[in-house]
Amino acid sequence: VVVVWTALLLALAVSASTAAWGLGQRHGRRSARTDQLMLDSVDVGIAALDGQGRLARCNDALRALTDDVPGLVDELVGGDDHDRELRLADRGGTDRHLVVGHRREERDVVVVHDVTEVRQAEQRLRASEERFRRTFEGSPVGMALVAGRPRAVVAANAALTRFLHVRVGSLAGRPADDVLVCDDGRPVQAVAGTTAVELAFHRPDGTTGHGLVSQTVVDPEGLVLVQVEDVTERVQARLALAHQAAHDPLTGLANRRTVVEHLQVALTSDPEGVGLLFVDLDRFKQVNDAYGHDVGDQLLVEVAHRLESVVRSGDRVGRLGGDEFVVVCWPLGSAERLSDVASRVERAIAAPVHCGRTRVHVTASVGTTRARAGLLPEDLLREADTAMYRAKTRGRSRVEEYDASLRREVEEQVAVEALLRSALDSGAVELDYQPIVDSRTAAVVSVEALARLRTPTGEVVRPSRFIPVAESTGLVVPLGLAVLDAGLRQVAHWHSGGHRVRLAVNVSAGQVARADFEAAVSSALDRHGVAPEHLELEITESALVAAGASTLQQLLRLRDTGVRIAIDDYGTGHASLSYLHRLPATTVKVDASFVAGVPHDARATAIVRAVSRLAEDVGVDCVAEGVETGEQRDWLAEHAPRALLQGFLLARPRPAGLVALAPVPAQRTPATVTPLSRSAG
Ligand code: C2E
Ligand code: MG
Ligand code: MG
Repeated sequence: VVVVWTALLLALAVSASTAAWGLGQRHGRRSARTDQLMLDSVDVGIAALDGQGRLARCNDALRALTDDVPGLVDELVGGDDHDRELRLADRGGTDRHLVVGHRREERDVVVVHDVTEVRQAEQRLRASEERFRRTFEGSPVGMALVAGRPRAVVAANAALTRFLHVRVGSLAGRPADDVLVCDDGRPVQAVAGTTAVELAFHRPDGTTGHGLVSQTVVDPEGLVLVQVEDVTERVQARLALAHQAAHDPLTGLANRRTVVEHLQVALTSDPEGVGLLFVDLDRFKQVNDAYGHDVGDQLLVEVAHRLESVVRSGDRVGRLGGDEFVVVCWPLGSAERLSDVASRVERAIAAPVHCGRTRVHVTASVGTTRARAGLLPEDLLREADTAMYRAKTRGRSRVEEYDASLRREVEEQVAVEALLRSALDSGAVELDYQPIVDSRTAAVVSVEALARLRTPTGEVVRPSRFIPVAESTGLVVPLGLAVLDAGLRQVAHWHSGGHRVRLAVNVSAGQVARADFEAAVSSALDRHGVAPEHLELEITESALVAAGASTLQQLLRLRDTGVRIAIDDYGTGHASLSYLHRLPATTVKVDASFVAGVPHDARATAIVRAVSRLAEDVGVDCVAEGVETGEQRDWLAEHAPRALLQGFLLARPRPAGLVALAPVPAQRTPATVTPLSRSAG
């Protein structure tokens, strides 16, 4: 462009100057002064030569360049007759570029064009192009210049080839939509704008690169600069974090959060078509304890694989934690049976697992449920969990479905829980008291407090219904405190009336296991001014056997202050009888199921006799629970004479106001009297 433009200027100037010259020649009449004026009015340097090639005249434009015009003209004419460009310093010392026109046929005219500014502009352009080229080549950001229709890559820098994992130089000339294409198949041109967007690229070697991509139109002909900043590492780190947050690190399965999100989507779009399996390994703890956690982990990983291999395609397997897995079956046709998937799961898990040289065999308890409109993910998880729990209680290694009966059971539990909460809030937990009697003196030695709940319609709810709910909801702790408080208040009242009776209260495993149990008991005794000797804590044998060392420590410390500890329901907790001396007990209460067998059941009578003897040997009190008949009382008086008695025969549990604390008459009962029915009361 510059060359063409220069040539054009030159041609114009030459023709202008020769025209001026010609004018002078043709119109010889015009004065030399007029000619000179015309020559001086053009800004192209012009010199006229005489026949010997010496300077005849020149114009102002030429004189402006140098003091030594003749010298300059000599130099100009000295060359051949091509247009020449030369450089010289002008009068002011500035370097100037001159283009000399010296026409063959008119050797007497020399035209000099000053193209300094043109040359300087060219210089600047070249420098700027060079800068751009270096920036383009050396940029750490991938760049491509794209032009034409169809668009092709004009140039691509090294960073782009590195990003795309292709050879340097292999991009130029290629169709842009083949090279710059996102992993979803869309050409970059269609997606990227002037603000950068994050796009993924499939590279020829199979890896994926992530780039921040923008494109800018850089000239009116549609030359486009595409820029791709490599953010692969950053994106991969982000994706890894997101994966971590959504998956269980051990098995790689979806974690609880992801399962809930997935259920949320499924339930929102198709509530009838969702099924859920809750899978819990049986006795997984034993595997961990027996073979170590490495084997336990391997087992969980293998179970995860097996689950994924037996579920239907599209079903989602997740691990909620520990040995709990779930399978979200969606979409599930109305004719499809969840139990089919559940049986496959059960069989898959039951096959032995080889962990190194160890062969482990586990089974699973599976609960299933089908969604209905209006259920939330947590509802569904709870239903499947409840069904799984029933599979456990019905003997493990089986599948249970969340059905109408289970729903009723759960509804009742929910109702009982609500009743219990409101009774605790309003201080409406009631207590009945049942005397425990010394059979020899007929004296009431102690009174057992038994908690009762009352429904708004006045119906009494028995502990067998609300204690399990209290235990599973943690409400057993506030319930225990309420019972202790009300019981001690009552006992303090009896004491003030002259009845030095002892209070027995039942405590649950969840209550004694708390670190603040000991303090709670002591402060309740202080509050009511009752001496520790007047309190007996009844703990079931199974709870004591399962208790940890710190729980036993607390009980021992309480016992050292004088508080009595009774083992309740003795004989039902799977402890060997000889274990008695290892427990921190002051009393043992022989379970009513053995007393019920007295005197006709040989095994029951043997156990009652043995326990009462054992208690005597170890130096603890013995109470026979559930004494209903005179026959039982008489047998006990003979064979376990030191045992205290508790039972409907002596006194039924009654509200405090109805409890008789005077000695209970100990007459022998005629054999003709019919026993009280166990169901009475
Ligand atoms: P438990 O501690 O073994 O209490 C004795 C249970 O046997 C009481 O049942 C009592 O009413 C019943 N009983 C007493 N004599 C006879 C009899 O001659 N025949 C028959 N068939 N039953 C008799 P209740 O009140 O239904 O309590 C059941 C269980 O609930 C208690 O068994 C105790 O383990 C638990 N419990 C009661 N109150 C509380 C409490 O405040 N806290 C805790 N943690 N558990 C409690
Ligand atoms: Mg008891
Ligand atoms: Mg008992």
